[in-house]
Amino acid sequence: MNKTNAVVVTLVLLSYLLIACVNHDQHSSNQQIKNRGEGKDNWWQKLPRSAWGPFERIPQSQDWFEVYRVLPGVFAIYEPGQFDEVISYLIVGTEKALLFDTGLGIGDMKRVVTELTELVPIVINSHTHYDHIGGNYQFDTIYGTDTEYTKTNSYGKPNEEVQEFVAEGWIWKQTPEKFSVAEYHIKPFQLSKFISDGEKIELGKRTLEVVMTPGHAPDALCLLDREHRLLFTGDTFYPASLYAHLPGSDFEAYAQTAAMLGQFIDDVDKLLPAHNEPLVDSVYLRRMHEGFEAIQDSTIEFKVTDGNREYMFEGFSIIANGSN
Ligand SMILES: [Zn+2]
Repeated sequence: MNKTNAVVVTLVLLSYLLIACVNHDQHSSNQQIKNRGEGKDNWWQKLPRSAWGPFERIPQSQDWFEVYRVLPGVFAIYEPGQFDEVISYLIVGTEKALLFDTGLGIGDMKRVVTELTELVPIVINSHTHYDHIGGNYQFDTIYGTDTEYTKTNSYGKPNEEVQEFVAEGWIWKQTPEKFSVAEYHIKPFQLSKFISDGEKIELGKRTLEVVMTPGHAPDALCLLDREHRLLFTGDTFYPASLYAHLPGSDFEAYAQTAAMLGQFIDDVDKLLPAHNEPLVDSVYLRRMHEGFEAIQDSTIEFKVTDGNREYMFEGFSIIANGSN
């Protein structure tokens, strides 16, 4: 290499370094994320989470999603590119398939499903927060709760209400080509049937039972697979900050739900949460129940994050409204 070449190479390397620094700087602070508890800053540094390591990654055609076979007949459809790291589950029986949540609506959820099964799925939402219903509009068969909350959310959300969640600091990964922050919205969808507590959905060699779990949201529900000793928990439990403080959340109802789910510990070995990690031990049902009890009995200290009380437990926290 002659001297001129060496200088050019050095300059190129330096400019790459400079660009990397500038990029890093843009992402090094995400003060835009408010009201989401501790540990939200630089959230992407936790990625990739080691919890996904043991599972078989299933190839599919969109970079936005990561798909894993977490158990026989259970696919986790993960969106690690956005702060919520939402997980939707495709549960496949011998006759029917069920899609538990449809994600953010950033990628093409229907295409993911079509690449995994020939069965046309029934969609059920763990609740109707924006990050679980984004792909609902692509599906014809959607079962939901007979509540005002579900009904209101089925009308979709305009860009003004959801733009925040796809702004700088919330998205870490390259979004699909067609995606635009300015146009992102949640499209309306139509329920085909109401479901209620205890209802069973037969998929063929697999039965799922609806367990209503209000608290995080008024229409929150879990799906229980008694035979395989699994509970799909939605946002009622995942191993991170649990939100009992959002508009529509009800702390007392959440505490009652936690007490009720605490009794499932003998029936369930694994939980399949809707965020961050796909399979966690059911011991968390007991810990969550104990956590809510400790808060209600004021036997635990809290810290204040963004004006909310946050109670720290082993492997998760609970955020409640107000700081006193
Ligand atoms: Zn939620």
